[in-house]
Amino acid sequence: MDPLTIVFVASEAAPLVKTGGLGDVIGALPRALSNMGHRACVFLPYYRRIINGAGFHPQATGIDVSVWIDGSMRHVPVHLLKARGVEFFLFEQDDLFDRPELYGPPGGAYADNPLRYTLFCRAAIEALPRLYPDADIVHCHDWQTAILPLLLKHSYADRSEWRNVKSVYTIHNLAYQGIFDPAWLSRLGLPQEAFHPDGIEFFGMINFMKAGILAADALTTVSAGYAEEILTPEYGCRLDGFLRKHAHKLRGIVNGIDTEVWNPRTDPAIAVHYGPGDLAGKRACRAQLCEQLAIEADPDVPLLAAVSRLAEQKGIDFIINALPRWMEKGWPCVILGSGDPAYAHMLRSLSRKRPRLLYFHEGFDETLSHRIYAAADIFLMPSRFEPCGLGQLIAMRYGAIPVARATGGLKDTIVDYRISKTQGTGFLYRDPSDDAFFNTVEAAVSLYRSRPLAWRRMMGRGMRLDVSWQASARAYSELYRTLL
Ligand code: ADP
Repeated sequence: MDPLTIVFVASEAAPLVKTGGLGDVIGALPRALSNMGHRACVFLPYYRRIINGAGFHPQATGIDVSVWIDGSMRHVPVHLLKARGVEFFLFEQDDLFDRPELYGPPGGAYADNPLRYTLFCRAAIEALPRLYPDADIVHCHDWQTAILPLLLKHSYADRSEWRNVKSVYTIHNLAYQGIFDPAWLSRLGLPQEAFHPDGIEFFGMINFMKAGILAADALTTVSAGYAEEILTPEYGCRLDGFLRKHAHKLRGIVNGIDTEVWNPRTDPAIAVHYGPGDLAGKRACRAQLCEQLAIEADPDVPLLAAVSRLAEQKGIDFIINALPRWMEKGWPCVILGSGDPAYAHMLRSLSRKRPRLLYFHEGFDETLSHRIYAAADIFLMPSRFEPCGLGQLIAMRYGAIPVARATGGLKDTIVDYRISKTQGTGFLYRDPSDDAFFNTVEAAVSLYRSRPLAWRRMMGRGMRLDVSWQASARAYSELYRTLL
């Protein structure tokens, strides 16, 4: 079959710049598609100090696109960088993108985000025929690039250079919709005729995510479970009715992880390598991390861990409420997270009380995250909702047993040990309550202590699971073809 040319337009991509799962996906899926024989590249804003700070130095391409926006003509030079076999095109606009954070200070957002990301989308459209005149698919992600399919349909529809390009829009998290004051409509030159409740209007405001849902040729989200959930009022974040209208073009394709980056046999960040047939390395990783962080390291007691955004979605409050009881029992816990300062404050003060039982690192730290996955026995994900979740996939690959709420992608990717002793890969519970979470962690700890063989078998099943991108990249490839 003929290879396709697919251009990803996104606001973050590992290894250049990442704040969460979106970055992991954009860092891995294009490579998986390239490995299948397609041509796939990524368009990203040039967050200069963050990307250079991570050791990446792109080269100018000589291409410079012009965009009229917010009352002025802006010239946007395009830079190129190859990393892990994928071409990243970086769109320079230093006053908008060369900032300390991607989206805003912790817990906040930059006031000009609508301008930043609309400019990026317009520049991406302008650059497309110059970089990839034969592009088949432009694949957009989350609210930051949701406006692109709408601009393609409205402002570029009758221009021959863009006529054959189809758009795909992926919702990675419905909770972040990009809702802004309607004054931005004219400032950004967005189509006035789309500003109505069946278009991009949302209770008098502009909703960027609605633009992607409305205008893209195909719509996806990151697990089959979440694709069903977002059509219901409980999980629909007030867009369930609108999504139901467009449900004919919606499908769920579960995320994978980059199994070269997340591989305990080769991971350069961890102390000793290991695999499912040889778990001595995992014990050594655990001992080393416990020593480094000065926490209790009794091998008879499992090490609990979480690596997460500190957000209500992630159920951090359930962890905070459980910690005093875990401390009474002497169960050690390591938490790496950044986000809501109120959660960080509570975790810091708990950790100050019992430093040998709770180590909390506030911030985003890729290397430490690898070490925690390798050291952990039990990985905590008490999410209120979870579109896919990558933490549990990484944890299983590193032999940490996930304890997670049965929602979205978590229930699609974890088999509850209490339902199947022979296929279980973790523990799931239903109610978003302190008791349900505490009791499930207790059940996991009890299995760890009383049935080490069953525990090791479960670790092996998780570590051998195919969590690569291969099957999902094939599903995307099939979806792209249906559009052409
Ligand atoms: P989300 O995208 O909602 O934050 P996911 O589970 O899909 O959640 O993906 C989270 C990704 O971000 C994982 O790769 C996880 O290891 C990583 N991550 C989250 N918080 C941190 C942190 N503070 N430091 C390093 N990595 C983190």
